[in-house]
Amino acid sequence: MHLSSAYDPQNIFAKILRGEMPCLKVYEDAVCLAFLDIFPQGPGHTLVIPKVAATNLLTLPADALGPYMVSVQKVAKAVQKAFEADGLTVFQFNGAAGGQTVFHLHFHIIPRQEGVGLKGHGQAGKASEEDLIAQQAAIIAAF
Ligand code: 5GP
Repeated sequence: MHLSSAYDPQNIFAKILRGEMPCLKVYEDAVCLAFLDIFPQGPGHTLVIPKVAATNLLTLPADALGPYMVSVQKVAKAVQKAFEADGLTVFQFNGAAGGQTVFHLHFHIIPRQEGVGLKGHGQAGKASEEDLIAQQAAIIAAF
């Protein structure tokens, strides 16, 4: 997938947005949907996707960027609060060469604790449903 590749409406996040695939939703508003990553690099790893069909940061219409980032910040605050995090790692990949594996724009938000490392991107196993459900509830309660 190149940076200028056309948006594929069959990507997994597009299916989640349409309700065709499930997700552990933590937040939704007019511009974004946020849900837990099921292969988390750390507890509470959350993804925030715009509702606009954008492949990556470069193809998101400029007028959608501000409202989307406001939502990313709102979710980041809730994730930090839910985990009483010492820090937050927020990142975003563009194009296969940039490390992106799902080609619908998303920001990753991972709560961090002092001295605790992260699993590598694409190297984490699937989290247990029980853990994810508990994390989902904690984040929802933090808004
Ligand atoms: P990227 O590599 O594109 O920046 O990140 C894609 C993220 O989506 C990865 O962290 C991966 O674990 C996550 N992911 C892949 N498939 C699914 C899925 O079906 N559901 C959820 N919730 N996350 C997924």
